[in-house]
Amino acid sequence: MKKIITVLILIFAIFLVGCSNKKLDNNISNSNLTVHFIDVKQGDSTLIISPDNKTMLIDAGDNSQGENIKNYLKKLNINKIDVLVGTHPDADHIGGLDYIINNFEINSFYMPRKSHNTKTFKDVLIAAKNKGLTIKEAKYGVKFKLGNYVKCEILNPVKKYGNDNNLWSAVIKTTYNNKSFLFTGDAEFKNEEDMIKSGANLKSDVLKLGHHGSSTSTSEKFLKIVNPDVAVISCKYKNKYGHPHKETLKLLKKYNIPLYRTDEQGNIVFYCDGNKIWTDKKPGTYNYYGNK
Ligand SMILES: [Zn+2]
Repeated sequence: MKKIITVLILIFAIFLVGCSNKKLDNNISNSNLTVHFIDVKQGDSTLIISPDNKTMLIDAGDNSQGENIKNYLKKLNINKIDVLVGTHPDADHIGGLDYIINNFEINSFYMPRKSHNTKTFKDVLIAAKNKGLTIKEAKYGVKFKLGNYVKCEILNPVKKYGNDNNLWSAVIKTTYNNKSFLFTGDAEFKNEEDMIKSGANLKSDVLKLGHHGSSTSTSEKFLKIVNPDVAVISCKYKNKYGHPHKETLKLLKKYNIPLYRTDEQGNIVFYCDGNKIWTDKKPGTYNYYGNK
C-alpha cells in the first residue's frame, strides 16, 4: 500500500513539473506581433514588436516626448531598435528621434527624401551622423522584413511632392500571416489617390488614420478600399487643431468602424497571432472635442 502511495505521489510530482515547464515555455516563446500606439499627446509614435522580438519604431512624437518613449521601451526591456522610421520632417513626428537615436542601438533608419529648414530636423541629421547611421530612403516599393515572420512594405511617397511635408509621409503596411496594419503618418487625400492608382494592395485590418484624423485625410474611397476592422487615431485630448475632425468621425461612425484614440485612451496595444487581432481596451467614442 505504502509503495502504491509513493508511486502515486511520484507520478503527481512529475505531472506538476511538466505543467510548470509548459507555462515557462509559453512565456519564452511569445508568438504574437504586438503594436503599441504610444500616447505622445499631439503627435505619432508607434512601436511594433515581431514574434521573434525584432523592433520597429515609427516616429517619436515632438521634442518633449523622447524621454517618455525611451521609458516606455525600457519597461519592455528594449535596448535595440531594428528599424527606425521618421515618416516626414514635421516636429510632431521626428521631434523625439534625436533623443531615441542617442539612447538606443539602431540598426536601420528610414526617412523620405525631404529636408526641412528647422533645428528639429537638423538635430535628427546630426544625431544620425554622430551614430554613423546612414539614412535609407523611404519610398514606394521599398520592402523589408522585421524578423523572420513579419513583412513590411512602404507604399508612399509614390513620387516627389514638392514642399508639403505631409505629402512625403512614409506609409507602411505591416503584415503577419493573414493580418495587416497600415501606418499612414500624415498622408493626405492626394497620397491616398496616388496609392490607389499605384495598384498596391491596401486592404488592412487595422488602419492608423492619416494626420491625426484630420478632414484632409481618410477619404471615403480610401477607407472603403482599406476596409479596416479597426481604426486608430493618435492625438492630444482637445488639441488646438480640433483633431480628429468631425468629418472623419462621421465617416468612421457611418461604416461602424470601432475607433481607438490615444486622446481618450492613452497607450493602446494590439496583439496579433497572424489570424486574429485583439486588445485589452474597449473602443473609444466618436466624440468631437474641437470648437468648429
Ligand atoms: Zn502630424
